[in-house]
Amino acid sequence: MQLERALQLLGHSGLPLPQGEAGGPAWLQAVIDALVELSSRDALTGLANRRAFELALSREIDRVARSGEPALLLTLDIDHFKRVNDTWGHTAGDHVLRAVAGALIDSVRPMDLVARVGGEEFAIILPNCASAFGETVAERVRRRVERMPVPVAPGQQITCTVSIGGAFAPQWVRSTAALWVERADQQLYLAKAQGRNLVRLEPTVVSVVSNEERRLLFETFQFQDHE
Ligand code: GH3
Ligand code: MG
Ligand code: MG
Repeated sequence: MQLERALQLLGHSGLPLPQGEAGGPAWLQAVIDALVELSSRDALTGLANRRAFELALSREIDRVARSGEPALLLTLDIDHFKRVNDTWGHTAGDHVLRAVAGALIDSVRPMDLVARVGGEEFAIILPNCASAFGETVAERVRRRVERMPVPVAPGQQITCTVSIGGAFAPQWVRSTAALWVERADQQLYLAKAQGRNLVRLEPTVVSVVSNEERRLLFETFQFQDHE
């Protein structure tokens, strides 16, 4: 019965239904894969949803702590989005959300994760992003949205803007995904307060970690892994 419901949900989602002999192991695996895909996506925009974002974020923060590779988190919020809904209607608002999602995907690398984390709130995880490039990539995203016309009614196009906050993951220390989001959100709040359609990145602190300290960190991780 649940399987029937799962197939209905998959059919309704527009995802391709599993091919092959129904009920066989390969078919069942394909159903599971499709359900995982479905539960990771935001239905309106097709982006990663909040659940998939949080999973990816905690994996990334672990990876950065172990590898020391820089990773950037951007949090984005559409400016005055309520006005779009109020002026053009909710359906037009949904068009804008989809268009912004497309613009975000188009302005980052395939390895970056773009998510819709709330109504008109988005986040991008950029693994392996050198701190010198943070501003460039965030500005590229901001400008891309600003320059994109979105049709909202016959013969009528509007543009919208986003405010962007960003913070790099702490390297060589144990932290939490929640703290990382909080730091990026603080910058987003500044971008809003300072006028909107702005990028604000947390200043990066240059810290020198010795090889000995790195070795100690790895030993701690290994010790805890085996507990
Ligand atoms: P700010 O610049 O301060 O962010 O202003 P804002 O108007 O964007 O912020 P606010 O949080 O007041 O409004 C967000 C709006 O987003 C309110 C809500 O109706 C709308 N919204 C949330 N989810 C959806 C959705 O799925 N579709 C549409 N069309 N609108 C949505
Ligand atoms: Mg908001
Ligand atoms: Mg907003």
